[in-house]
Amino acid sequence: MNLKFLGGAGEVGRSGVLLDTGREKILMDYGIKIVSQAEGPLNAPQIPMKVKLALDAMLLSHAHLDHSGFVPNLYNRGYRGPTYSTATTFDLARILLNDSIKLADLRNQEKYFFKKDLKVMEKNEYRITYGQQFDVGRTLVGIYDAGHIPGSVTFHLNTGEKNLIYSGDIKTKDTELLKGLEPVRDETDVLIMESTYAEREHPDREAQERRLAEVIRETLETGGTAMVPCFAVGRAQEVLLILEKFGLNRYPIYLDGMAVDATKIIMKYPELIKQPKRLEKIYSQITKVYNNGQRNKLVNQPCIIVTTSGMLNGGPIAHYLEKLYDRENCSLTLTGYQVEGSAGHTLINTGKYVTEDKNLGVKCRLSFIDLSAHSGRKELFEYVKMVDPQKVFVIHGDSCGKFAGELREKGYDAYAPKIGEVCDV
Ligand SMILES: [Zn+2]
Ligand SMILES: [Zn+2]
Repeated sequence: MNLKFLGGAGEVGRSGVLLDTGREKILMDYGIKIVSQAEGPLNAPQIPMKVKLALDAMLLSHAHLDHSGFVPNLYNRGYRGPTYSTATTFDLARILLNDSIKLADLRNQEKYFFKKDLKVMEKNEYRITYGQQFDVGRTLVGIYDAGHIPGSVTFHLNTGEKNLIYSGDIKTKDTELLKGLEPVRDETDVLIMESTYAEREHPDREAQERRLAEVIRETLETGGTAMVPCFAVGRAQEVLLILEKFGLNRYPIYLDGMAVDATKIIMKYPELIKQPKRLEKIYSQITKVYNNGQRNKLVNQPCIIVTTSGMLNGGPIAHYLEKLYDRENCSLTLTGYQVEGSAGHTLINTGKYVTEDKNLGVKCRLSFIDLSAHSGRKELFEYVKMVDPQKVFVIHGDSCGKFAGELREKGYDAYAPKIGEVCDV
């Protein structure tokens, strides 16, 4: 039995792990990596290694494109087997995958799948939920809540010989939107785990939330517009719940971009989120924005705008920034990781909003709030301790090797594989 790492090893992006039990071939995640240049527009995404189509199953941990973004390519190439994931993940992935087709068109990039392939994928979807089990050949697969974004899954696989966990992306602690991950109670021989924050601790969550609320309140009190760019899936809903928590829903709140559809999908599956009634309440109180006419009107009033994209690479936030960048009484609060080369990263480091055709000195109040949906360093160590596996494969991070080394010092048999490596288990 072996594991082949097709991507996402020693890096964040294009995740893909192929388990070959000798009988079954099971692919876990198949994503893309959004890469960037130091300046200017984003390059074409990087893709994972090719896999033979003789697969028994595709297991998708969650909707983010670094995990889902290349699954439709399997169907484009002729795969007609099942993909297993939660209903929330399939619905959210569909809007992200459609958007990635649109972006590739816009940027004249090579396309690896088309809308027709998403339809074929849809026909081969198997919708499963937490607590369920299913068989792939003689391998029994269990589904656990990964606590990362709505619908996110940790897979437990019992091949008959070995028990494996594929963590997907994990958040062990509760957030406003989600409960922390559900521990896998079964015995585990092999753990394949993410390590995004292996080198970083998150600041105190409550203090971060309070700071977000303070910046917004101060902005509104001086008659400004508070812009909160965020990822559509998970983060936008988390921000809405924080606004409600701190009583900011007495001000006008606007939700724009893909975040509107993502919120609707997430509310369709209330059993997967912590307090669905709270999300429904705030969603009913806010105004949804669909066009530039609406956008132009609301930049002239004190209000809160929650919109995509989280790293300022396009999306309605571009429209708002172009109108508001030189107003000192307005604020821009980034709420997520800014990859190097993204417009958000450039803005933090230079104070300039740089796009293909613009270079604007931003005078708005700039802040960065950590609302990460990943476990921090301490939680990752606690997670390994809790699972207590015989062997750990560390992936999905910029410092996998270092983290594996630290785990070895603690007595675990840990290893950080390279892309393309095949490891016996
Ligand atoms: Zn993720
Ligand atoms: Zn990820």
